[in-house]
Amino acid sequence: MNVLVVNCGSSSLKYQLVDMTNESVLAKGQFEKIGAEDAIFTHKRPTGDKLKKIQPVLDHKAALKILLDILVDKEYGVIASMDEIDAVGHRVVHGAEKFAKSVLINDEVMATLEECSKMAPLHNPPNIQGIEACQSIMPNVPQVAVFDTAFHQSMPPEAYLYGLPYDVYEKYGVRRYGFHGTSHRYVADRVAELMGKPLSELKIISCHLGNGSSVTAVKNGQSVDTSMGFTPLAGLVMGTRCGDIDPAIVPFLMDQMNLSTKEVDELMNKKSGVLGISGVSNDFRVLEEAAEAGNEKAQLALNMFHYKVRATIGAYAAVMGGVDAIVFTAGIGENGIGNREAICEGLEYLGTALDKERNNVRGKDTEISVEGSKVKLFVVPTNEEIMIARDTQRLAK
Ligand code: ADP
Repeated sequence: MNVLVVNCGSSSLKYQLVDMTNESVLAKGQFEKIGAEDAIFTHKRPTGDKLKKIQPVLDHKAALKILLDILVDKEYGVIASMDEIDAVGHRVVHGAEKFAKSVLINDEVMATLEECSKMAPLHNPPNIQGIEACQSIMPNVPQVAVFDTAFHQSMPPEAYLYGLPYDVYEKYGVRRYGFHGTSHRYVADRVAELMGKPLSELKIISCHLGNGSSVTAVKNGQSVDTSMGFTPLAGLVMGTRCGDIDPAIVPFLMDQMNLSTKEVDELMNKKSGVLGISGVSNDFRVLEEAAEAGNEKAQLALNMFHYKVRATIGAYAAVMGGVDAIVFTAGIGENGIGNREAICEGLEYLGTALDKERNNVRGKDTEISVEGSKVKLFVVPTNEEIMIARDTQRLAK
């Protein structure tokens, strides 16, 4: 069975075609700047050849048509005809409380997805457009939705409710949802495999550290708490997002700086985080270079990030009554050798012992704690696409 995995952003579409007989990637690539005259399309095959085209791409449907043409193309294609796409798996950001698992898409699901859009007005509409485009081009191919929020639906109410009036939750759905669920689920599964123990017996803290970052407490295979909240703005200090702040700062700044709701939202989402603190960059590689060259604000931004990740790990060890393994994933988690070392410094009281030599690794499944460390430390490159493909295969069968 071949599964096409599709991830639509507001102006992007990422895809992978996966052969599920051996989970191999037949082709992958992306569209950037959808809607523009100079949209960029890249398509790669495992043989290493790469196609890059700049052309007008009106919308997600147009992108999908170009993609399907390439997949069956004589020169660049990987399948003989579109009939070889057996199912499509879509990444959907927000499933609210409606979806605690991936689902096969039908009309009822589409209507519910529309309802969920008000929770994620930036993310869900492009996800829906991607699904509609596939439905119109491949009407007989089963489509599956896999949600970023679904994994966290197992959180208990004391973890997901805010201390606001209860009817704010009931009327408006204001609660913690959490994101990056597919990634946290993947790396927790993989850690259990690497440890040779059932996931159902492990307490794992999963640190997804990328441009957007979140930490999740995974107890016996279930998410019991996570650092992102009602939106992906909460929790850690991130690339450009502020993470947790005193909520009273919002009306205060709106008054003082004469900001609209949209402007304050933009300040917190786009101009804050390590970029806002350092004034240098949201890219951790650039920050590390600047800090090494003596830029104190860049060093401060890094310290704040490491501090908040460490503090959250400590909180989640408390939440679970202990921890067996801590795992690092995503851009910074997989590649940031110095970042991992700085985060782990001071966690030894939990029973962790980082092996600096083993930690000298990028982008590979690796145990980075010393042999016999009570709490194990791991690097696991995330693979949300394979989780989407697996769920899609299971539901489409
Ligand atoms: P996104 O949330 O956009 O998917 P990624 O998971 O790709 O983000 O992570 C992007 C972040 O990873 C960037 O801040 C980048 O600096 C960081 N990163 C990538 N490679 C390295 C590296 N070698 N060392 C430190 N950080 C890195």
